[in-house]
This record gives sequence, structure tokens and C-alpha cells, in this order.
Amino acid sequence: MAQVSIHWFRRDLRLTDNTALHHAARASEQVIPVYILSTWKRRHDWTGPSRQAFLCGNLASLAKNLETINSRLILRAGAADEELEKLILETGATALYANRDPDPFGKAMEASVAAMCQKHEVELLSFKDVTLHGPEEVLNGEGKPYRVFTPYFRNWFSQEKATPLPTVKSLGPAAAKLKSLPLPTLQHWSLPPCTASTPPPGERAARERMKDFIFSGKVAAYADMRNTPSGRHSSCLSPDLRYGLIGIRELYQRCQKAAQGAKATVKASVETYLKELAWREFYMAVLHHWPEVLEMEFNPEFRSVPWDGKEQHYEAWKEGRTGFPIVDAGMRQLLATGWMHNRVRMIVSMFLTKDLHVHWRLGESWFMQQLVDGEIASNNGGWQWSAGTGADAAPYFRIQNPWTQTKRYDPEGEYIKQWVPELKDVPPEKFFQPSDAPLATGYPLPIVDHGQERERTLKRFKMAKGR
Ligand SMILES: Cc1cc2nc3c(=O)[nH]c(=O)nc-3n(C[C@H](O)[C@H](O)[C@H](O)COP(=O)(O)OP(=O)(O)OC[C@H]3O[C@@H](n4cnc5c(N)ncnc54)[C@H](O)[C@@H]3O)c2cc1C
Repeated sequence: MAQVSIHWFRRDLRLTDNTALHHAARASEQVIPVYILSTWKRRHDWTGPSRQAFLCGNLASLAKNLETINSRLILRAGAADEELEKLILETGATALYANRDPDPFGKAMEASVAAMCQKHEVELLSFKDVTLHGPEEVLNGEGKPYRVFTPYFRNWFSQEKATPLPTVKSLGPAAAKLKSLPLPTLQHWSLPPCTASTPPPGERAARERMKDFIFSGKVAAYADMRNTPSGRHSSCLSPDLRYGLIGIRELYQRCQKAAQGAKATVKASVETYLKELAWREFYMAVLHHWPEVLEMEFNPEFRSVPWDGKEQHYEAWKEGRTGFPIVDAGMRQLLATGWMHNRVRMIVSMFLTKDLHVHWRLGESWFMQQLVDGEIASNNGGWQWSAGTGADAAPYFRIQNPWTQTKRYDPEGEYIKQWVPELKDVPPEKFFQPSDAPLATGYPLPIVDHGQERERTLKRFKMAKGR
């Protein structure tokens, strides 16, 4: 048994069903729980006030939860390898526990931490925790990664799933004398205040969201309702999975239990939900096997497609002022809450790339700056899907029409009226086609003609394919 070990919290900010923390607690007399804050200032292309504010709330809640088991969260700021090295020297820890991060940046840091541990003869114990199946566990018959989702899912679904781990009840004595930074606020990164109403942070709030989704009948109705953007019909657990406020094993097991003995429609609905969890792991696997997707199109055929959208169109899209009500509603929901419904994410991303011809990487970055659930792999996968350039992407010629999408998914205009209040008195049929006159005072006319831009996009993709 190690006398003193360190648990490096990363994207696993919880005490229940936490693989590395569970093992650290069992194998050590004292576990020092640590979180290392980043030190960039003012602006970041891949995050923003909403997600950082949610992180602050999650850290405050984690610190409290640790206090209830007589432990103490140690906060440091800087490069993780350097800060962990200092802590090892200060505490004499002989083991370092961590859950693996699937992102390239997290993996690179892990490699430096491993080298540092080796130098100090400290044992590094790292665990799979973020996913049910790691990228090397779901491979095709030739041992290669899947490029399309359906066979990936079949394989993923057929594999046995690990069961959840119990809540950690003790980490030994608190490291009372170790130096720790105060809990962070947005000032730590010199960020402006968060103006979005983000979800209540912390493990307990996340667990309530999970239970509400499963026990209130939402998971049973998920297959029917998940494409309706008004109201809350999906789980809204993406921010919780992003920060590991709930364990994926527990979520999976609870869903399975909800399906046990239930009628066929409920079983099918639960399976539809589990399929979405598999999309998350599919995109993480894509990013693991093809990290270049962060820089370029997954599909080499489309690397020469020109993206020459206008700056003012990109700005209108960001502000939710395009004159396409469904697009504007989505972009304003994003600004107001740091979250957007999946169906609408698909509509706004296809609109930016196929109607406005703005590079998908600009949309990807804006989403990362705004989303509370900003997840590098899912976001990149979603953007490349919509741009028609990704793994198992929408075929480039299937360009969604925002007007008909509105008729199908928001027929009463409820979603639009919630997020674009100046349109609250407009009859919903007006949202199904462009009109010549503004729909309301101050509301813009459509900034482009969908039919024309669609033709332009088709031409560009065909040319790129023919090259
Ligand atoms: C352009 C674009 C960008 C996206 N960016 C992100 C992102 O940064 N972070 C993120 O978590 N999801 C992203 N998604 C996927 C999806 O929109 C969200 O996961 C979903 O809307 C979250 O809401 P929910 O928790 O209610 O989802 P539910 O419908 O309840 O699904 C349950 C969980 O499954 C996962 N999931 C569902 N759909 C997808 C999907 N298409 N791809 C990957 N995982 C999925 C999520 O973890 C989600 O919480 C993006 C999709 C698109 C089209």
C-alpha cells in the first residue's frame, strides 16, 4: 500500500464511479486530490466564460464534497507536469493516479507527466474512465478503426460493459498544510463575466439531472421526442459528461435497468439513447486514430473546397441575426444558455457551411467558445458531419433546407418564439419560407437565398471531387 499518493482530477470532477480515485483510495493511506488550473489569459479559441464559469462551479462543489469526507482539494496553476512534480517533491508521494483524457492535448500532457514520474520513480497509474470502450477496443475484423458509425455501434454495443464503482468514502487525512490557490473565478483567466444561464454545477445537480431523465419518463419517450427542440426532451447531460460529473458506467447501467422488463417501445427508446452515447465514443475514437481532423477535412476529397464566406455573414450568424428564424433561435439559445439542441446544431452548422460558405473551422471554434458542453471530438465530428467532410458525414449533396427543417421540427414555432422574442406574434407558417418583407420591426430579411447558395455549394463539392 502506498503511503501517500496523488489523485490528479482532470475531467472527472466527482466522487462516485470515478475509476482512478476509487483505486487510489483503496491502495493508499492518504490521497491528495489535486486540480491544476490553466494559465492562459483573456481569450481562448477553444473555450469561453460559460464553460469556464461552469468549471469554477464544479470545482467549488468538488471541494465541498471532499471536505465532507475530511479531505481537501489542492489547487495549483501552471503546466500539469511541472506542478505535479512540485507536489511530489513537497509530499513525498510515491504514486500518481489519473483518468486518461481522450484529447490530443490531454494525451500529450500525460506523456510529459509519465516521463516526470519515471524520473522520480513515482508510479503512474492511469485508467480508462471517460468512455465505456477505448478507441483501441472497438476495431473491425482487420484490427483497424471504423470509418463509419453503424458497424462501430454494432461492435460497441455487443461488448460487455464495466459496472459502476461505489462512491469514495475516505481519502485518508487531509493535507492541511499544503499550499493551495483559492477556488477560481473567471478573473483567474481575466475573462469577462459569464452572461449565459448555465446549468447548476456540481456532482449532486448532475445526478439529479440524470435521475430526472431516467425516472420521469424522458428516456422512455426519447426516440419520439429527441428531435423536438422546444421544451426539454433530450437528457441535457452533455455538460455533465464533459466534466465527468456523472460516470458513464452508471449512466449506462441506469438506462439498461430502465429498459429491463419494459415494453418494446421503451426498450427501443433506451437503445436509441445508448446509440447517442456511442456517437460520443465514435468521435473520440476518430480523433484518436486521425488526430489530423482538428486541422483538416477527414475526407481528403474535400480538402480543396473553397471557403470564402463573408465576415459580416459570420458575424450575423454568431449574433443570431441572419433572417432565418430557426438559425437565429439556435444561435441565441447558444448565447443565452451555452447549450443548443442537437437538431438545431445540425441546422445552424449546415447553414454556416453550405449557405454562407464560411469555413467549418470557424464554426467549430465559435461553438467551443460558447458551449458549456464543448467537447473537442464531438464538436469536430459534428462540424465535419455538417460540412460533409467528416467520417460518416452527411453526403455533400444532402443539404438541409432551413425552411423545411423548421416546418418539420418546429411546426408551431414554439422554439423560435422562445429565443427570438420579436417574432412572438408572427404566425408559424411565416417561418417555413422566406418572405419579402421583414417578419417584425428590426428583424432582418434573410441574408442569403437558400436555393442559390445550395447550387453554389454543390458545384464546389463536385469540382473538388473531380480533382
Ligand atoms: C455541429 C455540432 C457540434 C456539436 N458539438 C458538441 C460538443 O461540443 N459537445 C457535445 O457533447 N456534443 C456536441 N454535439 C453533439 C450533440 O449535439 C450534443 O451532444 C447534444 O445536443 C447534447 O445534448 P443532450 O445531452 O441533451 O443529448 P442527448 O440527445 O440526450 O444525448 C446523450 C448524450 O449522447 C452524446 N451525444 C448525443 N448526440 C451526439 C452526437 N451527435 N455526437 C456526439 N455525441 C453525442 C452526448 O454526450 C449527449 O449528452 C455537436 C453536434 C453538432 C451537430
